[in-house]
Amino acid sequence: MEFADAHCHYQFAELPYSAVEQARREGVTWAMVNGSAPADWPDVLALFQRDPRNLPAFGLHPWDVPSAPPDWLESLHRFLVSTPEATLGEVGLDQWVKDHHIVAQEKVLRAQLAMAVELGRPVSIHCVKAIEPLLGILRRDALPKRGFLMHSWNGPVELVPELVSRGAYFSFSAHHLQPRKIHLRQQFTSAIPLERILIETDAPALCPAPEFRQHSLPPAPDGSECNHPSNLIINNRELAITRGISPEVAAAETLKNFKRLFLHR
Ligand SMILES: [Zn+2]
Repeated sequence: MEFADAHCHYQFAELPYSAVEQARREGVTWAMVNGSAPADWPDVLALFQRDPRNLPAFGLHPWDVPSAPPDWLESLHRFLVSTPEATLGEVGLDQWVKDHHIVAQEKVLRAQLAMAVELGRPVSIHCVKAIEPLLGILRRDALPKRGFLMHSWNGPVELVPELVSRGAYFSFSAHHLQPRKIHLRQQFTSAIPLERILIETDAPALCPAPEFRQHSLPPAPDGSECNHPSNLIINNRELAITRGISPEVAAAETLKNFKRLFLHR
């Protein structure tokens, strides 16, 4: 089987590259590596230069809005123009993080969405406790024709049809394997069309419970658990169970969706 990771952060220091190579040997062929701030965009680009299956995404994450340098938007434009394969991400809105400033986040997101439209790039969107303001922007602003990913989808099922009509894809992650998130997991049974589902790890973030791990990694220096890139294989298996299809079909369909969203020109 061949798998495609729709959203991860291989550039983070706590994730050794040997783990990425191990995942490749086990079938995790493609990965969309998301930058989060100007400081890590060169690292994301270096991973793409090291192996073109480490697809790059450049974007300013809502958590990094307060610390962004004044020239971040010009710099982002340069990274995207010089890397035609790049997606725009990780961007979005987050009202869970401490001391968030939603108006500043909205301004940053809208500037990046406009850039994605201008350059014809897909977008990877993070949304935590901010679905209403996000919908306001998605209804008002021009959206990229290529579509956009609702990474680790976290919203109400009622919004799925509208988001699909606006070009959304939805990724299944370890977030959906938590017992208290069963209502989100159930959306992947039939409410979300199969042709709009991707799978992701968010590695090294979103480490699943031990029973959902293909491999484990040592904890980060701050003690937090690290998600191994190969755990995508388990997410694929769990999506297959949720959907009532075989793991082979789940892998083939999500790979096809990944290529349509991120690779098709
Ligand atoms: Zn992420």
